[in-house]
Amino acid sequence: MTASNAILPLIIDTHCHLNLYPDPDALAARVAGDRMTVNLVTNTPDDYVQCKTRFAKPCAIRPSLGMIPQHIQELAGCIDHYCELLRDTRYIGEIGLDYVTECEDERRLQRKILERILAECANQGDKIISIHSRRAADDVLAMVGRDFPGTIILHWFSGSEASLNRACDTICFSINTAMVRSRRGKVLIRAMNPDRILTETDGPFIHIGERAAEPRDLRLVIDFLAREWQCSQIDAARRVQQSYQRATVGIAAAPDDVSSCACTTPSES
Ligand SMILES: [Zn+2]
Repeated sequence: MTASNAILPLIIDTHCHLNLYPDPDALAARVAGDRMTVNLVTNTPDDYVQCKTRFAKPCAIRPSLGMIPQHIQELAGCIDHYCELLRDTRYIGEIGLDYVTECEDERRLQRKILERILAECANQGDKIISIHSRRAADDVLAMVGRDFPGTIILHWFSGSEASLNRACDTICFSINTAMVRSRRGKVLIRAMNPDRILTETDGPFIHIGERAAEPRDLRLVIDFLAREWQCSQIDAARRVQQSYQRATVGIAAAPDDVSSCACTTPSES
C-alpha cells in the first residue's frame, strides 16, 4: 500500500535539483500544493543566485548554495564569490568530492575547494550541508571530521559498509527512491542509524519508469522505511521529520531563516 498524501507535509526533501526539471515552476507549485519542504540544491553559485530570486515564493523551497565537484575545474575560480554568498544562507549543497575522474590533479582541486567551503561553514556554525561523495566516502568523512559544527547530510551514500560504520553518529544520510529499490542500497540503508536517515529525490536524475522522480515520490521511501521499521507510514514520516529537526536544532539562525514563515514545516529553530 502506498502512503497517502496526508504524510506529504511531514516530508522534507533534503536534496532536489528542482531548477533542472523541464518545468520548474509547475513542480514548485505542486510542492507548495502538497505542503512539502524542499532543499533545492544547485550546481553553481550563479544557479543559486537565480534560484533565490525565482523561488523566493513559496518559502517551503530553500535554495542551497552549491558547487558540484564534477565541474570543479570550471567553478574553482568563483570560490571567493561562493564564500561571500555563503554568509547569507544556511543551506549549502551540492558540494563534495566525485572520484569518477581518475585525474589526481582534479581530485586534489576538489579537495582544496571542499576544504575551503567546509572551513567557511564551520566558522559560521549554522549550515545544513548536502554532500556528494561518489567513490570518495572515506575522504569526505575524514574532511568532515567527528565534531563538525553544523548539519552534515551525506546524499545518496554509495560507499562501503565499513565506511558507513566509520561515520560518526552526528552525520545524516539522505536516501532516495533508487536506493530503496536496489539490493545494495537496501543493505546500506539497513546499516545506517535509523535516527540519522533523511529523504531526498535527487531529481531529475532519478527516474521512476519514464519520468523523473519528484518530491511527492518520497512516499515510496517512507513506505520502505515503514516496512523496515514495522510501523505505520505516518509514524515513519514523523520519525524522519524528527531526525531532521534533531540534526538541525541548536544551529544558530542565519538571515534567511524561514522559521517565522507560516507555510513551512516546524523544522529548525
Ligand atoms: Zn544531486
